[in-house]
Amino acid sequence: MATDKDQTYYSACPVCSSTYKPWRSKQVGDHQYRMDLCQGCGYCFVNPRPSLEFLMDYYATFGHGDAEIAQEQPTLESVQERERLFPNSTVDAKCLVKTIRSLLNRSTGAQRISNRFLDVGCGYGFFSREAQRAGFEVQALELAQIERQIAHRMTGLDPTASSFEEYVCEPTSLGVVLMSQILEHVLDVNLWVDKARGLLEPGGILAIALPNYGSITRRLLQERDPFVCPPTHLNFFSPRSLSSLLRKHGFEVEKIEWVSRLPKSTFEKRCPGFAKPILPLVHLGTGLALQGVDWSRLGMVIRVYGRKKS
Ligand SMILES: [Zn+2]
Repeated sequence: MATDKDQTYYSACPVCSSTYKPWRSKQVGDHQYRMDLCQGCGYCFVNPRPSLEFLMDYYATFGHGDAEIAQEQPTLESVQERERLFPNSTVDAKCLVKTIRSLLNRSTGAQRISNRFLDVGCGYGFFSREAQRAGFEVQALELAQIERQIAHRMTGLDPTASSFEEYVCEPTSLGVVLMSQILEHVLDVNLWVDKARGLLEPGGILAIALPNYGSITRRLLQERDPFVCPPTHLNFFSPRSLSSLLRKHGFEVEKIEWVSRLPKSTFEKRCPGFAKPILPLVHLGTGLALQGVDWSRLGMVIRVYGRKKS
């Protein structure tokens, strides 16, 4: 891969303009990625930023780093089978859409918020499908062709093959913008949240789900945490730094949720034969431990809900 000559360097935190200090660096292939940590809001970010051209070249060469998917071409059937074995996206989608609906219901009063729901980077369509079931009028964006095809079969929608930056939509026309597992990949987080504000009507909800920089696994493993994976991930947010970003762009943070989940196969694959009978107990103990982690606000993933101020 060519060297990246068109990098952008941040000399202060792009979220709150405070000074930062070096955090860690990580070697991936021929490249050393430096990550800095803001001393004001706690946002951690790859700095300098790679260029868009470099990232496109990287994704074309290495994919998105999902080894499970890279081994075989996914189909609707294989995606659904994986979800049946380890319910994850379906559970997340149900919880997230339920929270959005309750926030909108709470807000109404005199104000009636639009039913239009934009799913940015819809992937296989689990969240769009759940939003449809909850009565939203859904539009979806997805750059990857296979994901678009599967999302179409799952939802009947035709996701637009556009980046969020280039997506054209009438200003203040949406009730909900969802960014699930995507903001961590984005080069310019200010641009994204500002664009969401412009598309939402006052009182509308921006829901963001992403890996938690404040999680227990990141604290224990530091840069060896699997979510700390530059250049695929460029942004490492905690509830505090993500809340700062939302407030900066005219949102009030209404709710934060912590979510941790491990597939049962994590233990089943490593379990020696003689210990198989106690596996149900292991699963029960793990489930309780993860609940404790989320309750302690150290969960692996955070969902942050911001409401556009009137
Ligand atoms: Zn900051």
